[in-house]
Amino acid sequence: MAPRSPAQRAKVRARSLDAIARWHTEFRRTRALDALARDPLQFARRYDHAHDRELAAMLSALLAFGRVGIITAKLSALFQLLGPSPSHTAQTLSRDALVSRLADFRHRTFAGPDIARLAWAAGQLQRTDGGLYVSLERAWNDTHDLRASLARWVDALRTLAWPEGLTRASRHLLPDPLGPSAAKRLLLLMRWVVRPDDGIDLGLAKIPPSALVIPVDVHVHRIARNLGLTARHDASRRTADEITDALRALSPDDPVQYDMAVCHLGISLQCPSKRDPVRCDGCALRDVCVHWTDAVNARRTSRR
Ligand code: SF4
Repeated sequence: MAPRSPAQRAKVRARSLDAIARWHTEFRRTRALDALARDPLQFARRYDHAHDRELAAMLSALLAFGRVGIITAKLSALFQLLGPSPSHTAQTLSRDALVSRLADFRHRTFAGPDIARLAWAAGQLQRTDGGLYVSLERAWNDTHDLRASLARWVDALRTLAWPEGLTRASRHLLPDPLGPSAAKRLLLLMRWVVRPDDGIDLGLAKIPPSALVIPVDVHVHRIARNLGLTARHDASRRTADEITDALRALSPDDPVQYDMAVCHLGISLQCPSKRDPVRCDGCALRDVCVHWTDAVNARRTSRR
């Protein structure tokens, strides 16, 4: 039974946000480090040098497509190939040498030669700008618009990596942040590099966290729908904006801080799109989930 009036919907949303805030606090206190050990973000945290973290974060976020266990296995193999300092490799090898080093690597539709070109382009930005996200910060200072800034940064990387023109595969690897999709992998990268270093996120780019937009994957989307933060069926750009706007009510300065807690809850429970007593058993958000509140409401109504 969905809430009918705007007042009912506002009440449901307020209860949901309260539950997310409580789960986030609990997650950060007791589970965040375990979750980090299973998250693609772990690879950037393995390096001490800022340039290595910058590059590892970019490659890890852009390859974060598919099941998390497979992603981390593939990233482990990729960083082996890139050696003890990925940024040193990217900055010192020629593009052709890097392409042949990654020639046999593949993760889903992402082919090693395209990843090599992108890593090489990132290395060039680090050499010329002194950091991978310096041009992104410059664009932010000009536009004060995250997606517009990302578009300029993506454009600079694309021009360096694929000067002869883009292919379908290279567009998929480094997507257009101004398109209709939620650009989940780019927004995940932004969360990692923009949010301050809190032992999880990295704090590598000087952009205010208030500008971030939540990266909407299947888990975040499903839980946000279950909790009434969005009614939209597609994991689109508008859905990402809508969920982020809802989270601003909890923290206007840092609305995306809740992403990891919500996402990992979805990963660990494989949050179903229906009431499931087994999977929902450990869910900290069950009291506000539509699949349980509706069932309770329906039972009450039938007793009357
Ligand atoms: S109670 Fe179940 S369906 Fe609802 S958010 Fe939690 S895991 Fe998902």
